[in-house]
Amino acid sequence: MGYINLFYVLAAVCFIFGLKKLGHPKTARNGNMIASVGMLIAIVATLVGFGGIDFKLIAVGMIIGAIVGATFAIKVKMTGMPQMVAIFNGFGGGASALVAAAEFYTKAGTVESSTFLLSTIVLSVLIGTLTFTGSFIAFGKLQGFISGQPIVFPGQKILNALIALVMIAFAVGVVLVPANMMWYFIGLVVVAALIGVTLVIPIGGADMPVVISLLNSYSGVAAAATGFVLLNNGLIISGALVGASGLILTNIMCKGMNRSLANVIFGAVGLEQEGASGDAAGKQMNIKSYSTEEAAMIFDAAEKVIIVPGYGLAVAQAQHAVREVAEYLEGKGKTVLYAIHPVAGRMPGHMNVLLAEANVPYEHLKDLDEINPEFETCDVALVLGANDVVNPAARHDTTSPIYGMPILDVDKSRTVIINKRTMNPGFAGIQNELFGFDNSIMVFGDAKSMLTDLLKDLKEL
Ligand code: NDP
Repeated sequence: MGYINLFYVLAAVCFIFGLKKLGHPKTARNGNMIASVGMLIAIVATLVGFGGIDFKLIAVGMIIGAIVGATFAIKVKMTGMPQMVAIFNGFGGGASALVAAAEFYTKAGTVESSTFLLSTIVLSVLIGTLTFTGSFIAFGKLQGFISGQPIVFPGQKILNALIALVMIAFAVGVVLVPANMMWYFIGLVVVAALIGVTLVIPIGGADMPVVISLLNSYSGVAAAATGFVLLNNGLIISGALVGASGLILTNIMCKGMNRSLANVIFGAVGLEQEGASGDAAGKQMNIKSYSTEEAAMIFDAAEKVIIVPGYGLAVAQAQHAVREVAEYLEGKGKTVLYAIHPVAGRMPGHMNVLLAEANVPYEHLKDLDEINPEFETCDVALVLGANDVVNPAARHDTTSPIYGMPILDVDKSRTVIINKRTMNPGFAGIQNELFGFDNSIMVFGDAKSMLTDLLKDLKEL
């Protein structure tokens, strides 16, 4: 048995190296591979090291799991990634809760059922179950099965507090009242499931990535708690790593939106309120729409161009087209940089991954803090399918749902060329006053066809 822990340490080293390498797009693929090898080591060590295992059942589970996982990984589009992560978090939490429930079923009321065991079972079932239901609500919101708007009603916070009290009462019952522990246990599962739902429904569309990252952290904590139930060091270490890294990512995203975690969870931000959608909703905007030929002439006269990619670029799969335009402009002696907002797109690092796929050099990708001072000396900011992350209302309109979120200051450029298909709002569901600014020009159309036409027109000048 002792050597298993050695393999777990080896696996943990792989996880930690993998996580470190995930911190940069250049090394991320390698990091993923190293962490996967760590997981393989942990699984093999567990299967070989523990006796009395029914390998047939495990093989069936692994084959089904591998087929489902691989199919999802191949088929799900980049833009559907947050939903997929939500489902995976949910299954992670659910699996931890099921394992803990099985331990409860076999050991509760026997000599093995110590206060420590029951407490860890309660933690694992509680966090695992709420992660399961919360993640599926998050999935439903992102997939459009349920309203992406915050769902709120009067007395909601009081109701949540009451449910939390009932949950604590059941948890204490399972650990301290042996006579009725099965009933308390069932009550705990039901209430934890309910709390997962009530925690996620009041959260608004644009805050979903933060919630998913938080649920990811919960799934890790549930796994670590299950590790204590089973006294399995491998599970404790990997669960703790997921829990901690999920929390760090949550914190980074909150900072990216300049919001506290409490405000994301309880603020019901994104709720449509009268007059809340900022200046742009109330005023008629004076929109200037140009053709790609006209836009090409502006680029021809520019010396410094900053490209601002957003969700629309990913939808249009225009990453190769944008690189070709950028390379053409560079060939003409112009400086071209890319501005990367931390929550542009639909998942953390979305734009980095997208542009890396098109072999855009990493040195050209500039983070928010680094690029914002550059806009003042920029001739053309080319906004491609980005909307919320360039909405100036975030800076000044206290009624805007995105007020306080750091944005890319594209409006400070001499000219802003914005490409999108229509005047529809972005993820946060609000109009963007930028489109009506004097220095703004809209070039409507799908990002890929627009960029292809633009390149043709640039070459014809
Ligand atoms: P937005 O969602 O604000 O805007 C995207 C824009 O792209 C839309 O206005 C849309 O306009 C346009 N678009 C869609 N398809 C195309 C196309 N084929 N060609 C050209 N344009 C297109 O995106 P941003 O990247 O600016 O902001 C991200 C938002 O998503 C933020 O609110 C963020 O909080 C949220 N979010 C971020 C996550 C993350 O982790 N990065 C995860 C989940 C949400 P039109 O329909 O008119 O073309």
